[in-house]
Amino acid sequence: MAADDDARDCDVLILGASMAGIDVLYQLRRRLPGRALDVVVVDRQATHGYIPLVQERLCARIDRAGSTLETQRVVDADPRARFVLGEVRSFDPARREVELAGGQRLRGRFVVIALGSVVTPPAGLPGREHALGYKFSAGFDGAAAALERALTREGDAVPHFVVVGGGISGVELAGDLAHLGAARPSSWRAPRVTLVQSAARLLPALTPRAGRLAARFLGRQGVELRLGTRVVELREHELVLRTRQSTSASGGPYREGDGDGQVTLACDGVFWAGGVRPAPALARLNLPTTEDGWLRVGPTLQCFPEPRPRWPEIFACGDAVRIFGGDREAPWPTMQRAIECLWQADLVARNIVQLVAHNAVGAGRSGYPPPLAPHTLREDFFHGVSMGSRSMIVYGPMAVELGAGGVWFRRFLMRQYFRRYRGLARA
Ligand SMILES: Cc1cc2nc3c(=O)[nH]c(=O)nc-3n(C[C@H](O)[C@H](O)[C@H](O)COP(=O)(O)OP(=O)(O)OC[C@H]3O[C@@H](n4cnc5c(N)ncnc54)[C@H](O)[C@@H]3O)c2cc1C
Repeated sequence: MAADDDARDCDVLILGASMAGIDVLYQLRRRLPGRALDVVVVDRQATHGYIPLVQERLCARIDRAGSTLETQRVVDADPRARFVLGEVRSFDPARREVELAGGQRLRGRFVVIALGSVVTPPAGLPGREHALGYKFSAGFDGAAAALERALTREGDAVPHFVVVGGGISGVELAGDLAHLGAARPSSWRAPRVTLVQSAARLLPALTPRAGRLAARFLGRQGVELRLGTRVVELREHELVLRTRQSTSASGGPYREGDGDGQVTLACDGVFWAGGVRPAPALARLNLPTTEDGWLRVGPTLQCFPEPRPRWPEIFACGDAVRIFGGDREAPWPTMQRAIECLWQADLVARNIVQLVAHNAVGAGRSGYPPPLAPHTLREDFFHGVSMGSRSMIVYGPMAVELGAGGVWFRRFLMRQYFRRYRGLARA
């Protein structure tokens, strides 16, 4: 261990406490040597809503408090862990020291970066500040308030919400907004819902059949689809669209959107579900990044993966990372999904324990670091996609309709997820 480690605040400093970060703590505690480590977890949110069902939380289909993990409470209940509420400002890899907004500094013998991703409009989009973000608490609360305000407003005009992005998150949110037509809190009205998608079909990352099923499910629930359509500007209560090719829910054309013309659509709010970008903090960490701003890690999930790494104790995992190395030139085609976060958190914990064990048997720095285990690439895993009252399961080329069964199954998975962290207090 280097001399400066004497001044550290903890054995393991975890930055980010969402699906990847909190699971590193869980996985450390599942291993005997990991239970002896002092851990500090930093996040700007003291709780995190269950992101895979964020659309159900937003539309008040499931209880919001009951679908929130009390991250700070869970961490602080662990006798050897401490939660620090704060904004990560910068990181010094040589000192393994993070600086928080407000000036507080924390050092760890091992550091794990799990600061994830954001879902925001591209930097150059005029009026991007009008988009409603809803992934994290800060945006979620504002988006939920905007939705409730519009749906409880008196008057004749039907509230209208637009979802931008026809990937999984976008179709799920559009489906749940449309489902408010069938079931909703008693004081709410049902909104009109439009889904805008730049590609010519829904769910472009999945099979064409899955895209067709999604279009059918949404169309039957009254969602207006604008495919092949780009948002060119957001304004307060309206957005400007440019349509290359457009299709309504019924399959017929939108007259005003034909050709290359622009149309302006009045609405009460625009939910942005169009693409995942690196968390802004990743650019301030002095760590290797890809051209588009993700953390560049090796197969062992170390930020410095060379054979004699300068700082072998710095790891990163979850949405924040792109894996390079092994026998592949390009970044590994890993998924930015909850299950991938859990697999990566498991590996990070395993490799930290391995480095700790190497020092514990007296080998010290000789032969340090020992070879660590690489991540196992799994390019696909089944997708449960719920759209209001309908759902499907997609795996490779297969897309099977599940009716409401998928909705209940995913709630079951959420309860299992929360159950996972109850044991931390007993570690
Ligand atoms: C709308 C939506 C729906 C999804 N649905 C599914 C699904 O159904 N199934 C599935 O498998 N996956 C789903 N995903 C993907 C899944 O949610 C992500 O893969 C997962 O959340 C990534 O976890 P993470 O911990 O790596 O990062 P994130 O969840 O992005 O969390 C990053 C954490 O870092 C914190 N943070 C960031 N910057 C700072 C800073 N500067 N200072 C302090 N703290 C900071 C944040 O507060 C947050 O807690 C969905 C994602 C979205 C956006």
